[in-house]
Amino acid sequence: MSKELPELLAPAGCLERLKIAISYGADAVYLGGQKFGLRSAAENFTFKEIEQGVTFAHKSSRKVYVVLNSFLHDNELAELPEFLRAIENIGVDAVICSDPGVVKTVKEFTKLEIHLSTQASCNNAFSARFWKDLGVARVILGRECSILEAAKIKEQAQIDVEIFVHGSMCIAYSGNCIISNFTAGRDSNRGGCAQSCRFEYAIKSHSEAFSKNSFFLSSKDLLGIDHIESIIKNKISSVKIEGRMKSALYLGTVVKTYRAALDSCASDCEANQEMLLCLKKELYKVTHREYCDGNLVKVAGPDSVSADRESEEMNYGMVGVVIDTTSKDTFLIEVRGVFKRGDLLEVIPFVGEPILVGSDQAVGPFGEEIVKFSPSSLVKLPKVAGIEKLNIVRIKL
Ligand code: SF4
Repeated sequence: MSKELPELLAPAGCLERLKIAISYGADAVYLGGQKFGLRSAAENFTFKEIEQGVTFAHKSSRKVYVVLNSFLHDNELAELPEFLRAIENIGVDAVICSDPGVVKTVKEFTKLEIHLSTQASCNNAFSARFWKDLGVARVILGRECSILEAAKIKEQAQIDVEIFVHGSMCIAYSGNCIISNFTAGRDSNRGGCAQSCRFEYAIKSHSEAFSKNSFFLSSKDLLGIDHIESIIKNKISSVKIEGRMKSALYLGTVVKTYRAALDSCASDCEANQEMLLCLKKELYKVTHREYCDGNLVKVAGPDSVSADRESEEMNYGMVGVVIDTTSKDTFLIEVRGVFKRGDLLEVIPFVGEPILVGSDQAVGPFGEEIVKFSPSSLVKLPKVAGIEKLNIVRIKL
């Protein structure tokens, strides 16, 4: 019998990535509008783009959540009702808030469903009940919670729980980090995080003659694929992929992998161990730091920090996105990363194995001969079965 699966929730840094996440199998996406979100560097959505995103998602019964997780001051709260009414009229499915003032304003002015952001660091059932009483329908738990704790909170507070399953981690409790405020003059909790924890720092001891350079504040990335069975068994409501600022290659690969992992476990995890192992290998092909399983099973310790190096080597690069397949003989790619005519490319279909495509016959959009293709250019390649619009194209480096 098929088990009930958690929602797979993916980041959408722009409209194209929203479409990519949904096409590769996300059940829902989260995005930021022009105000009130936490990623000032992301290409945040205009109202028009939110509307286009909602239309695209709802066409296949997927959901769109808007983040309002910045900590606001009074003058900003005054602008909030108008923003809320606009996104409610567009038809977004929920908002993600961290500030009680924002939660109260959403309740007062709209009927929008409210999810509590991880920024609020909700890590226990009392806290979850408190937020539920204020009108919150789902808590995105602090990344400090294990799967078992999340299940207990769900049961005791009778509220939906969401946990992070993949992506970058903070060294601090979310919503409480001010390293960037002091080292870069940028407020982490108002969209300005400068990733100060990823820098190399020097540790000096005054008592001993000791000095060492290290990335000792840089957390490894979260990899939750090994715990999918437990996540399903413990009836976690939603699993979230981090990364509104990550590339389309990263997003497509990670969403596709977790979609396949969840679906294969819906029937029988035991019988699909080999497949899960293959899927896990895909997650090593995208840019990432060293992986760890965070707090999903036990409390993260010293081995969850990448003290010696900042990131793993990248073994695949982004080539582009398929933007048109309507021609009888060719398909069109918009190039995002340099490649040369003759390179072997891999198109990642929405389901199934990558499709190898030689680029010996690659030409420009009007059939012009080009040897080296640069970002933003268009490339025509001979048609291959199974390739669809919005497929990601990558190259082995
Ligand atoms: S500086 Fe690091 S720990 Fe602090 S908010 Fe940014 S990513 Fe998280």
